[in-house]
Amino acid sequence: MSIPLKIYITPFAEKGVREPEKWSSDAAKKALNVVNTIWSKAKITFVINNSLIDKPLDMAKSARNNDQRLLDVLSSRHDPDNAVHIYLVNPIENLAAGGSSYLHSDPEPASFVQWYGNDFASGRAWAHELGHLMSLDHVEIDYADEKQAALRSNLMTKGLSVGSDLTDQQIATAKGSKLVKRFGG
Ligand SMILES: [Zn+2]
Repeated sequence: MSIPLKIYITPFAEKGVREPEKWSSDAAKKALNVVNTIWSKAKITFVINNSLIDKPLDMAKSARNNDQRLLDVLSSRHDPDNAVHIYLVNPIENLAAGGSSYLHSDPEPASFVQWYGNDFASGRAWAHELGHLMSLDHVEIDYADEKQAALRSNLMTKGLSVGSDLTDQQIATAKGSKLVKRFGG
């Protein structure tokens, strides 16, 4: 099954001064290949319906590190439609996350993804955010328990990681999620 995405490459600005954007539509395509490699384990494919450079979002650097507030602001700029909205943004200090928004629905089919320096790391973060949109929670690891060591390479570990594994349970949860059902899964 395939889920349509609308990509908004959104530059930040501060007091009218636009910051150079790290994402490009080419980088978005390459990162999406990483996303699709990861989610192929669940036979879910994401396709870019539309990709555009959005008008800059003027926001003080110090105000960017609240993930929910940032996604609310981004989501408020575009009405919901029949695609998942992905906002690609520059790195944000003190924030190792995407975010969840509930402006129009629970959760909003929207995420932002920071640039993490290369296609792979950025694509992995993107795949992680899509995991949240497909009802997956974080995997909490008890590092004292050696049997849990395998979970370290899971996609849904918290924060920055290179893990991209999915358990059978996670695949089942994603496939049964509201988002996948909405898009015809
Ligand atoms: Zn997360």
